[in-house]
Amino acid sequence: MSIKDNINQILNNIEAARQRSPRAAKQVHLLAVSKTKPLEAVMEAWNSGQTWFGENRVQELVPKQEALPEAQWHLIGHLQTNKVKYIIGKTALIHSLDSIGLADEIEKRSAAAGVTTDCLIQVNIAEEEQKSGLYVPELSSFIDAMADRPHIKIMGLMTIGPIVDDPEDIRPVFAELRNLYEREKARELPFVDFQWLSMGMSHDYHIAVEEGANIVRVGSSIFGARQYN
Ligand SMILES: *Cc1c(COP(=O)(O)O)cnc(C)c1O
Repeated sequence: MSIKDNINQILNNIEAARQRSPRAAKQVHLLAVSKTKPLEAVMEAWNSGQTWFGENRVQELVPKQEALPEAQWHLIGHLQTNKVKYIIGKTALIHSLDSIGLADEIEKRSAAAGVTTDCLIQVNIAEEEQKSGLYVPELSSFIDAMADRPHIKIMGLMTIGPIVDDPEDIRPVFAELRNLYEREKARELPFVDFQWLSMGMSHDYHIAVEEGANIVRVGSSIFGARQYN
């Protein structure tokens, strides 16, 4: 199967999941996660109509964004404060805002560049120690704290599901993020603009769509398994 075939298959699966669930979003965006993959693979996806790409490392996002600035580039991995300066103005969306310190740096660099940076807050629903993300009880006060950071726009929530044998076991995690999303959106705070619920990866995106995700982040099912060296 080519990258193009894989994308079309996933788009069909997304649509099927959407149709069978009353909780699904009206429109779901596929974010193609191209981390560790060469620019040729990105171009193959781009030439078959894919326009949103996700990277988890700043060092990889920047050169790909510069090679293909027409695409939308999303940062989905943990962002270190000292790397923020390299990506301001280059991302459509940062999915991994997870601390006040990081928010302060994004605010400072965005203000200096005269831009507003769109961000999702990463939530660690299952409170896994090795994972980044806010714990659920911290979420509302964290959002409140964004009121005096006018160069950050909070556009929704993101989570990475725990690793499970049966993807069905992840459904409650996705359902909880969806509930948090609705709860925070309903507060109608003037400095947030809730639009995006980012959840689901290669092995569980169909469940995420059923539970209301409107961005799914899919890597290996599009580009093949990753090799790290
Ligand atoms: C790598 C990655 C993905 C994609 O994972 P696949 O299992 O290859 O689809 C999604 N989200 C994040 C945050 C990632 O780091």
